[in-house]
Amino acid sequence: MSIQESLRIVPKGDIALLEWDLFGEKVNKLSTPVMFRLREVVEELKKSSFKAVVMVSRKSKIFIAGADIEEIKRINTKEEFNKVLTQAHEIFNALEDLPLVTIAAINGACLGGGCEMVLACDYRIASDSPDTKIGLPEVKLGILPGFGGCVRLPRTVGLPASLDIILAGKAVDGRKAEKIGLVDACVPAQQLEERALAWAREKIAAGAKKRRKTYRPVGAMNKFMDSFLGRPVVFSQAKKGVLKETKGFYPAPLKALEVVSRTYGMSQRERALAIEAECFIEVATTAVSKNLIDLFYMMEAVKKQTGVEGKDVKPLPVQSIAVLGAGTMGGGIAQVAADKGILVRMKDISNEQLAVGFRHASEIFGKYLKRKRITKYDFDAKMSRISGTLDYSGFQQMDVVIEAIIEDMNLKKKVIAETVKHLNPECIFATNTSSLSVTEMAEAHPHPENFVGMHFFNPVDKMPLVEVIRGPKTSDVATATIFELSKRMGKTPVVVQDGPGFLVNRLLMPYMIEAMFLMQDGMAIDVVDRWYTHKFGMPMGPFRLMDEVGLDVCIKVVKIFHKSLGDRIEVPKLITALNESSRKGKKNGRGFYLYDAKGQQLSVDRAVYGELGLGAPTNPLTEKECLERGVFTMINEASLALIEDRIVQTPQDVDLAMIMGTGFPPFRGGLLKYADALGTQYVAQELELYASKCGSRLRPAQPLANLAKTNRKFYATSHKGGVENGVGAQAERGV
Ligand code: NAD
Repeated sequence: MSIQESLRIVPKGDIALLEWDLFGEKVNKLSTPVMFRLREVVEELKKSSFKAVVMVSRKSKIFIAGADIEEIKRINTKEEFNKVLTQAHEIFNALEDLPLVTIAAINGACLGGGCEMVLACDYRIASDSPDTKIGLPEVKLGILPGFGGCVRLPRTVGLPASLDIILAGKAVDGRKAEKIGLVDACVPAQQLEERALAWAREKIAAGAKKRRKTYRPVGAMNKFMDSFLGRPVVFSQAKKGVLKETKGFYPAPLKALEVVSRTYGMSQRERALAIEAECFIEVATTAVSKNLIDLFYMMEAVKKQTGVEGKDVKPLPVQSIAVLGAGTMGGGIAQVAADKGILVRMKDISNEQLAVGFRHASEIFGKYLKRKRITKYDFDAKMSRISGTLDYSGFQQMDVVIEAIIEDMNLKKKVIAETVKHLNPECIFATNTSSLSVTEMAEAHPHPENFVGMHFFNPVDKMPLVEVIRGPKTSDVATATIFELSKRMGKTPVVVQDGPGFLVNRLLMPYMIEAMFLMQDGMAIDVVDRWYTHKFGMPMGPFRLMDEVGLDVCIKVVKIFHKSLGDRIEVPKLITALNESSRKGKKNGRGFYLYDAKGQQLSVDRAVYGELGLGAPTNPLTEKECLERGVFTMINEASLALIEDRIVQTPQDVDLAMIMGTGFPPFRGGLLKYADALGTQYVAQELELYASKCGSRLRPAQPLANLAKTNRKFYATSHKGGVENGVGAQAERGV
């Protein structure tokens, strides 16, 4: 089969059925060769005697997934972008100008370039399949719809509905698409092709007239919003919304808004498309876009990985899991597993505690129901997958056990030894511990090769990361099984080796400690937090984060870290006073901030400064110093975790884990991408300066210092060959 066959015309009388079925690919996408083939087809159709064309996909869940991101990633110059965009515009314009009636019969994902292509057709009919999603996700990659989407979508569905899709990178299902006028009908999936052909025959019978669909507002409000008076109001509201959502860190949605505001109502199509292209190029050449595209690739890579190197290692099939402990984490894990169709047996020590887990799951599914994400039937089906027990009944049938009882090594070991007696020998045993040694815990298991860490983050339903922790004896099969299970639960797994705090908590700890030093140095809690969120882009500042984790937990972990990592983890003086105070953070309503009964954050508790033996804050430090001390200390620790301790294999692992586990700003590409962008030399020099001023905890660690010597990047570091040659003697490797 060739590219010709990938896009083929099947004659159906007066109608050309245009079948999309990209050869050798799982999905249809608009790469340059495919676009050229589309141009040929459009030419062919133009010369033919067909009166209508109906486009269908022969891929089961994909209509057209979008433009080829690999190509976008490869392009570096404005000229190249301009060439690709101009070609696409010419091809879609030719499709739009075909003398035939053009109909897209959409089943499956119709995204980005795919959506922009169907907008150039006269009619669109969608299937009601849950796989059908039509939308423009470009802004999520730091770009904007550049194949005519910013111009054609507003003309099709009006300003509010189109901005809703374009600025948030959203996709809608068939029914919603029909409601907003993005498609002309939403029909049962089995009838899609037949109904689209019937639609074509009807239009032919009516004279095969072309249609120029332009949005006609209905109702006074819509009419106002579409008027010359109303439009500025819509644009200004949209801009406010974008700035609130992105804090100005993501240029693409604002640029897309600019395109729509400059082109809406413009009669010259070519002029409008040229504006779109010009703005596309502006955002596509930014570092933000490159970083977001790289992140997309990292996520795609995880989908293909198994968590182990051996190609023939197969994960064990998982149908049922047991969850030990129905508390905050156990209840969350049970809910997410049941949501994905896995049977869950939850065990705790009392019915009251079990009820906590059930309530947790039911509240989350209840929210989905309220938002119409699921039906009452789905709600019941999902809840019925979770059962509770106080003994080990049913444990023989379990494929995996996830332990989420309280954080106590002795208790955990006791429970593991007891539970194993009730399991079949193949059952994989995973612990959700956040700070204890997986290696030590595995001693309680008669088959430590079946023992592994599966570290979820709180809240489980929202946090996308799972650290899959390999102990020295953990087998490939156990690792691969938990890696696969994490993916099935909708999470992004990263394999880490056992060590204090694994990866994410290990990097966060010095960052949170540094915030306490900033406070000791006279900085105000809210000033520091605001700089981290509004100037750096973290989802929350370090003090707010400590409140969220629990100040009692933070203190405990600082001590554990100090013990295992030595003087590198310097304990701030205020820890003693904090330890003696009753402040636990959000959970008891008093931390660095105050919280209301519902857990909503109120203002900083001014009393905290005095209570911790500090004077009123005078804010003597610059924004630059506050941000650098916190972020660079994480980079420093990451250099040790990656290069010296080999907690993870690659800088990508660090970046993915930090973005997914802490919300490290995705537009910066991740912690080590950010370090590379600044230059390791700069980071090390600054740390050296801060160390001379504030203490040796900030001194560049050896692996970072080694990179800095020749200004090498983390992203050129591999461990291959590093073992014999010692720390920092890594072989170069491109990415
Ligand atoms: P939690 O106190 O909310 O829940 C623990 C549950 O375990 C309770 O319901 C308790 O009754 C139950 N339990 C105690 N002994 C048991 C036994 N012998 N058998 C069965 N159940 C028993 O605690 P949590 O916050 O859900 O934490 C659980 C684990 O997850 C800990 O190891 C913790 O470190 C880890 N973790 C917590 C978080 C977090 O933010 N809370 C995040 C990641 C990991």
